[in-house]
Amino acid sequence: MSYVLSCIATEHNPFLVALAALMCVVGSWISFSLFRRARDTRGSTRAGWLFLNGMASGSAVWCTHFIAILAFETPLSLEFDPLLTILSLMLAIVGTGIGFGLASSGWGRFAPEAGGLFVGAAIAGMHYLGMAALHVEGFVEWNVSMIVASVALVAGFGVLSLNRAMRPVTRWCHHGAAFCFFLAVVTLHFTGVAALTITPLAPVNPGHQPALWALAFAVAGVGTLVIGMGVVTALIDLRTRALADADRMRLSTSDPLTGLGNRAAFNRVLEDGCSWADASNSQLCVVLVDFDDFKSINQLRGYSAGDAFLTAIGARVMAGLQPEECAMRLGGDEFVVVKRLTDGGSLQGFLDRLQALFTDPVRASGTALSCPVCMGVAIYPDHGLSSSDLLANVGLALARAKQDKLSPVQFSDTVMDAAEKTRRTLGVLLRGVVERGELVVQYQPQFDLETGAISGAEALLRWTHPVLGPVSPADFIPVAEASGQIVGIGEWVLREACRHAAAWPSPFKVAVNLSAVQLRQANLPERVAAILKETGLPASRLELEVTETSLMADLERSVAVLRRLRETGVSIALDDFGTGYSALASLQVFSFDRLKLDKSFAGDLAMSKEARAILKTVLLLGQSLAIPVLAEGVETEPQAAFLREAGCPNVQGFLYSRPISDGALRAMILAQDEAGPRAAARHA
Ligand code: C2E
Ligand code: CA
Ligand code: CA
Repeated sequence: MSYVLSCIATEHNPFLVALAALMCVVGSWISFSLFRRARDTRGSTRAGWLFLNGMASGSAVWCTHFIAILAFETPLSLEFDPLLTILSLMLAIVGTGIGFGLASSGWGRFAPEAGGLFVGAAIAGMHYLGMAALHVEGFVEWNVSMIVASVALVAGFGVLSLNRAMRPVTRWCHHGAAFCFFLAVVTLHFTGVAALTITPLAPVNPGHQPALWALAFAVAGVGTLVIGMGVVTALIDLRTRALADADRMRLSTSDPLTGLGNRAAFNRVLEDGCSWADASNSQLCVVLVDFDDFKSINQLRGYSAGDAFLTAIGARVMAGLQPEECAMRLGGDEFVVVKRLTDGGSLQGFLDRLQALFTDPVRASGTALSCPVCMGVAIYPDHGLSSSDLLANVGLALARAKQDKLSPVQFSDTVMDAAEKTRRTLGVLLRGVVERGELVVQYQPQFDLETGAISGAEALLRWTHPVLGPVSPADFIPVAEASGQIVGIGEWVLREACRHAAAWPSPFKVAVNLSAVQLRQANLPERVAAILKETGLPASRLELEVTETSLMADLERSVAVLRRLRETGVSIALDDFGTGYSALASLQVFSFDRLKLDKSFAGDLAMSKEARAILKTVLLLGQSLAIPVLAEGVETEPQAAFLREAGCPNVQGFLYSRPISDGALRAMILAQDEAGPRAAARHA
């Protein structure tokens, strides 16, 4: 190698060497820029890029070689064979082009390295063909080991460069690849030249020939043109791509129908707005707008009228907004408007203006159309400390606005919405609750007030969530009812209660609560009959409890179901009697087998003489209708004493027993069987 270096330092014109190096650096870099585009495209585009890639790399290699040869400060006169010279240029262009093509072809695991080898071979071929084109008047000797070294270097750097370009691990690999390509050309050239020794045969010219200088500059000029063309192409491509990206960005954030921003734009506006509010210690108002009955425009006038309506609304809203306000369409008939509250300007004025912008009639499809809206309003940071919280809360406010027909604009109410959020969370957690075995049924025994004997038991559902712990049925039953999950859960409770009761030591009745949703199920009687058959519990031992409220939800249907249920032999109790508006009306529509007096009456007995009067009246009513009464929620001895005196036959309450497990109930029944009724109550 020391010979190679001294050859560069002593036998070359430094200016032309620098020019050659410059050609090589720029050519290498632009070659790999073009190659990156070829690599990332397919089909004819890729072929086009590869063509430019081959042109740039081939010219760079060739120009570097020729300028460097001309830089060779030899007193000999140099001549070039035109055909071989042109062939060497062709070889460089085609060879490197094919090499780059192969490297990016994806043919086989080592295609990049094979392509690199090909590129190396093309550079070496170009060099030695170029050297063959050089005619000097002298005796030419080649050093074979230097030739081998030069080929090994160009092959090694060629492989390395395309390996880095095709298998990058950092963003620097692209530059590394170009640098390896540069090294391939340079090391080959100077090792290859050093392999050559020329002994002059005739007297030599002193000094460098001006014709060769001109040739050097001509070659450099042509090379610069070709490489420059590559640079310009790459730059045009870069710019076109930037424009296309900007276009794509604009399209991806705008709603094609109305021209307003879309959901993606909204997310950004919201994020930016929250940051602005934080930085300026101000507030941001988010209004979610939803048309109340947009469906009917589509249904009555067709989808094109619906689209025309939304387009017209979008245009009017856009025109009617003031600075610091921004509207977007989230999809369907849902819009959102964000306002930066700068100077405490009137929020109500803004909301009124929005209402008019959205609800005043617009001309669409030849007619005047209008549609009422609901709006949910949330203020950052008052109604949520993060954009996602704010979004969730404004959604809940809108949901409330949709329900409340009288006030279609609803502000986020964190207390109310927290309850709604809990309900939604419970709804999600309830999914699959039966399958996961998180439910159990407990039993609260019912007693004969006179004898103290157990007379039956009410099945009460218990849910223990692995993280939340025990959840009250008063909280989760309404959620399960709203989502319809109560049907599956209710059937599970019924089966479980019947299965347990069938195995009790004494044949007491088991009472199971029915929800309003279950009561509307037309096939409920068949389901109940099937469960009784499956568990072996006689129908006479099952009592189903319905509340007056659930009955009134759909009176006719519920009563029809109750009648068919009664036919299967089960008895029906009216639960929470006295809490509804039309307790007496319920008694008219169906002849119940039992009245369960709501626990609030027992609670009030000590305090109010009205409660005592009502209780006595209800007991009389029961007697005259021949319906036995059970008082719920008996907690104290004085309450029990009053009920006993008033002639209430049955009771249920904490005084006697809290709801207990099936096993505990069985133990209680056994204790009663062995030692008598009082023992059972004591056992509790
Ligand atoms: P409910 O049917 O009125 O059930 C009686 C409720 O009163 C039970 O509450 C019971 O634990 C409670 N209780 C009993 N004795 C006393 C007492 O002396 N004092 C007081 N303060 N409370 C007493 P729980 O178990 O929390 O159930 C609440 C409600 O959940 C039930 O009211 C019922 O409407 C519903 N529920 C429970 N299990 C089921 C079920 O399996 N299906 C359906 N659809 N609803 C159920
Ligand atoms: Ca009940
Ligand atoms: Ca009750």
